[in-house]
Amino acid sequence: MALSWRHHVLIQALLSRGPMTEEDFHAVFAGVSGKDPVTHRQLFNEVLLKINKELAYVQFELRACQNQYDGKVHYGMVNNVADEQSKLGTKYSVPQIAFYKGVVEAIVQDVATQGCISSIDALHIQLENQVQNCQSSQDTQSRIPAAFKSFTMSQKEKTLNDLIKDQWLCYTSDGRIGLGLRSFFDLRSWFFSNDVPSCEVCNEAGVKASVCSNEGCTVRIHYYCLKKKFPQRKGSRACPGCGTEWPRSEFEVDHLDVPEQTQVPSADLSSRKRPRRMKAEAVAAVQSQSETQNEAPCGPTQRRRLRSCKTESVET
Ligand SMILES: [Zn+2]
Ligand SMILES: [Zn+2]
Repeated sequence: MALSWRHHVLIQALLSRGPMTEEDFHAVFAGVSGKDPVTHRQLFNEVLLKINKELAYVQFELRACQNQYDGKVHYGMVNNVADEQSKLGTKYSVPQIAFYKGVVEAIVQDVATQGCISSIDALHIQLENQVQNCQSSQDTQSRIPAAFKSFTMSQKEKTLNDLIKDQWLCYTSDGRIGLGLRSFFDLRSWFFSNDVPSCEVCNEAGVKASVCSNEGCTVRIHYYCLKKKFPQRKGSRACPGCGTEWPRSEFEVDHLDVPEQTQVPSADLSSRKRPRRMKAEAVAAVQSQSETQNEAPCGPTQRRRLRSCKTESVET
């Protein structure tokens, strides 16, 4: 059955604005349906399922996802296509994408699961380490390393700015570089295929999470999921993996309303299938969002722009 204009408004809102907070998306839904999605949860889910059934034909998917820095739910559109066509975007160059991947890898490989790295560390990421991942064909092998080597510090700075502005990365509240909302949406299967340990409670990748204090234990739980796991404020909190007492953390938030259900009904199981390699996924993800905006020249304005992005930082 074809989608109505109401469905199209919801799709269009997410496509044009990018990931939206649950509050904003609910407001759009209420506007087009006249129903509050909180009290009409079933209707809300039915509408989303219908949208996802249609979107599955074009390999798009409407998803809900929590911002791991503050636990807030967002809705967004994910492009599940990773073919050559979708890589033809123009916004980010090959070295820029390699840089993005380097930053993402550094963030998710952090054993302390802080979910962020310092700007200095980000700027010192070596693109050469990404060469193997980025070789898409024989004839690019000789070309790419040169482009990577000539990728300057100011180009990295500008790329960081752009990635933060486009929500691929973010500034955390303490001024470090974390994953942006779009990365949480689009790299979901990459997290699984790259063995980023999942949260014990919600099964999503634990990028910023609390880790078991037992060194030999790999159990992680998102800070916003700890409340679900250990609802009592006092009393024992045994690790579900090894039984070690779970440490209390400053990041645990008591006031946060943890939503009962964040799963959007999906018509397509592709998000659970054996995920693609980082390359295809990240390239498609970054480039599918490509814009016609021209590359701005690097110059003395970079530092100011980098700072100005802080106002868009994610609060923790
Ligand atoms: Zn979780
Ligand atoms: Zn443990």
